[in-house]
Amino acid sequence: MGLIVQKFGGTSVADAERVGRCAGRAVRAKEGGSQVVVVVSARGHRTDELIELAESICASPPPRELSMLLATGEQESIALMAMAIHELGHEAISQTGGQIGLITEPVFTRAKIKSIDASRIRKELANGRIVIVAGFQGVTEAGEITTLGRGASDTTAVALASVLGAEVCEIYTDVDGVYTADPRLVPKARKIGRISYMEMLEMASLGAGVMHNRSIMFGMKSGVPIHVRSSFTDSPGTMITEELPMMEDIVVTGCTVAKNLARLIVLGVPHKPGMAAKVFGPLAKRGVVVDDIVQSAFEPGNANMTFTVAKDDLDATRLVLEELDKEVGFEKIIVDQNVAKVSVVGVGMRSHTGVAERMFRALSTAGINIEMITTSEIKISTLIAEGDADRALRVVHDEFELDKDPNGPAHPAAR
Ligand code: ADP
Ligand code: ASP
Ligand code: MG
Repeated sequence: MGLIVQKFGGTSVADAERVGRCAGRAVRAKEGGSQVVVVVSARGHRTDELIELAESICASPPPRELSMLLATGEQESIALMAMAIHELGHEAISQTGGQIGLITEPVFTRAKIKSIDASRIRKELANGRIVIVAGFQGVTEAGEITTLGRGASDTTAVALASVLGAEVCEIYTDVDGVYTADPRLVPKARKIGRISYMEMLEMASLGAGVMHNRSIMFGMKSGVPIHVRSSFTDSPGTMITEELPMMEDIVVTGCTVAKNLARLIVLGVPHKPGMAAKVFGPLAKRGVVVDDIVQSAFEPGNANMTFTVAKDDLDATRLVLEELDKEVGFEKIIVDQNVAKVSVVGVGMRSHTGVAERMFRALSTAGINIEMITTSEIKISTLIAEGDADRALRVVHDEFELDKDPNGPAHPAAR
């Protein structure tokens, strides 16, 4: 008997009627002969509301208590979903992260999954039950409740699909697939039929909020296909799978924008071995994710260092730099909070040239200044003023004619 994991996001379970509709989907899959594991997010804007409530009591809530509070959002949803399935005449059991043995690192609010004990789920499935699991949460080895970071119910779902050897992990959300850009920002964006794990990982890491980036790592490692689709329709969505040979024919698959970033520029860093480790070691220890690192040295003995962090991590980053400043004496630390990152992603960039030039020219024609450029094998990112971000995304989308199907005749992306 095949096994499928279905994950329902916040909008999909926002009210009783929608919970009932998602329960119906799980029941249909069960009646179709599959074993079914359901992962749910907190309803609607529950997580945002809980964060707001916490911050109205305490400006900077202790992370342990914040995880304790936020985990309740998903706990509500699992119980409601199990009730809805019972109502449809099927057996279901709700399970928290702790109950299914989802063990995380001892870090609150952004914990990484260490292991999952699949035996509890398997036992319940063998008893003919639909198992409903709370997304976004786990426990430490010491039994402390942790959460996995915003949007991480996707990661719970794909991690479960991986350990259970599921046929597919279905991600039900409020769009009917992964688009060439966020359809809320680019109305012309087109639904992508199939995308590789690598491209989706880049897109998710560069701001495409439709999938949590760490979920894609689990997919990539286990090879479980991820089907991103709408919970409101039955139309097929986007398959995230291994790379296929024809994917390299498409130069640019999608484009993204990431806001809520801050750029730090450290001038006059002593140019000697060990300095970069001194800066980034303490940041890593605090769990700060650093990106777009550029170091350059023009004068002997003196280097400049630039990097970006999420605005949420700015205070922690400042603290680390100020501590270090006391020890080594930088010339100046500049913080720029008015930045956004616009990127293009595509595995075809490995074998096609001229993508960067086209992107930069399109931005310059639109009068958008590029502050910083970073690249990898399959992406090009530009840092620009935050106020230009949405327009820049549309400019880039137009330049690569991403609204046109690349499998259609004479498409420029397939040249
Ligand atoms: P859920 O609550 O179901 O997890 P999310 O809000 O996390 O839903 O993700 C869905 C949203 O992601 C969409 O409404 C859309 O605005 C946004 N999004 C950003 N980039 C993309 C993209 N490239 N394709 C589709 N949706 C995207
Ligand atoms: N409820 C959590 C959030 O809003 C997790 C999720 O929805 O994936 O971030
Ligand atoms: Mg989400």
